[in-house]
Amino acid sequence: MPDIGFVNGRFLPLEEATVSVEDRGFQFGDGIYEVIRTYHGHPFQLDAHLARLERSARAIELSPPWNVQQWAAYMRDGITRSGYAESKVYLQLTRGAAPRDHVFPASTKPTAVMTVREMKPMEPVLQTAGVAVMTMDDWRWGRCDIKSVNLLPNIMARQKAKQAGAFEAIFVRGGQVTEGSVSNVMVVKAGRLLTAPEGERILSGVTRTIVLELAKKEGLTVEERFVSLDDFIRADEIFLTGTTVEVLPVIRVDGKAVGPGGSGKPGPVTQKLQAAFQHFVG
Ligand code: PLP
Repeated sequence: MPDIGFVNGRFLPLEEATVSVEDRGFQFGDGIYEVIRTYHGHPFQLDAHLARLERSARAIELSPPWNVQQWAAYMRDGITRSGYAESKVYLQLTRGAAPRDHVFPASTKPTAVMTVREMKPMEPVLQTAGVAVMTMDDWRWGRCDIKSVNLLPNIMARQKAKQAGAFEAIFVRGGQVTEGSVSNVMVVKAGRLLTAPEGERILSGVTRTIVLELAKKEGLTVEERFVSLDDFIRADEIFLTGTTVEVLPVIRVDGKAVGPGGSGKPGPVTQKLQAAFQHFVG
């Protein structure tokens, strides 16, 4: 059974995995999730992902049914059962199934779902040539640090970007760049690496943390502060980070070429960090 489903401790073929229509994840988006990929068959940065899962759960007053060791054991089991060389694992945790009422149910158990699918790498040409992005108003809620299953603004934004021929939507709140719909965003300006600070405006990306550490090791000065849309467009280099995109150069913003000297090409710092990241993941 290659694509694996898992519901509340039970593994089954993905197409047989179901939850109740009364599940609060379905009714209200009352839940949180994580996405973890493997490299060489091993879950990448598992501790960091599981720590964020716990943080997200705590932030919405939800008690996970298992500790991180148990989650990790289920994940490894799922990866082995799938048999894929590389997998992408989604963990979702909701407040469970109960008659519809905004108030938390008194005694309902959370629903825990996991899926394991084959991880298909991005097209290499996107990594080498870079991608176009489209800026958009950040109309998400005020707790973007919680990895909530409520992704409606992200979905709307990415769809709009796709329709405009762009790979990713970049959110801008009050004139400041926050992050992408599925990624964090970083810019290089006068030899410094800038990215939005951790806090309620962005998801603290696992890849973001690794890339910032790698950048410091490469001798770059890192500044975690918001960048205005004007500075963003005029940056020397722009790139995205994330589990699915890794380190991905941005070469166009809203139809205009960006990158060194407005060349529409990936810059040297981005390429150096791409190489460092690939080295890090082995
Ligand atoms: N920001 C948002 C909104 C995301 O959805 C994601 C990834 O899913 C990221 C940033 C990047 O986070 P990570 O590096 O942990 O994948």
